[in-house]
Amino acid sequence: MAIARPGKIVCVGRNYREHAVELGNVVPQEPLLFLKPSTAVIGDGDTIVLPPESARVEHEAEIAVVIGKRIRRVPEAQALAALAGITCLNDVTARDLQRREEQWTRAKGFDTFCPLGPRVVPLEQVRLAELEVRCRVNGIERQRGHAHDMVFGLAALVAFASQAMTLEPGDVIATGTPGGVGPLTAGDVVEVEIPGVGVLRNPVAAESRKA
Ligand code: MG
Repeated sequence: MAIARPGKIVCVGRNYREHAVELGNVVPQEPLLFLKPSTAVIGDGDTIVLPPESARVEHEAEIAVVIGKRIRRVPEAQALAALAGITCLNDVTARDLQRREEQWTRAKGFDTFCPLGPRVVPLEQVRLAELEVRCRVNGIERQRGHAHDMVFGLAALVAFASQAMTLEPGDVIATGTPGGVGPLTAGDVVEVEIPGVGVLRNPVAAESRKA
């Protein structure tokens, strides 16, 4: 089942210490927010297209929350009640462009760079204390992270993002990726799994350019 295209995708950078360190970054004092365009969203089974502008496209497996109620400046204690549920997200990133450019809009905004799904599972059906995310490429595990290792937890992230912008039903917050990010090449199949939520599986292909 495809997920409706969100109005916006709010992402959090460097929210696991291990991942911040692997890219040579310090852990931020506050959540580091950026946006991915809604046009980057694809569903389970759709193809991630490697653009010719990048020589290094990487997977970032993430736990995503989907907003269920319109909120602004929601207190942390009420943040989880505003969620429709949890799903899998792959924050696909052109790492070479990200390193070269101060703004990450291009590096993280190409079409197909936001696989999302396969379904939204309500919070009450998820064991939040055991929440974890895994990434496999061609069946080999590359990433495994536990939500309790996040620098800022789900409720804190929702509350923080809602201080800046109104969050509307269907909006998505991607909560950051654990260590182990790595390259994707044409012919790969990448999977993001959240046990109890589902597996988001996407093939990878090079962009075919029409003359
Ligand atoms: Mg990310």
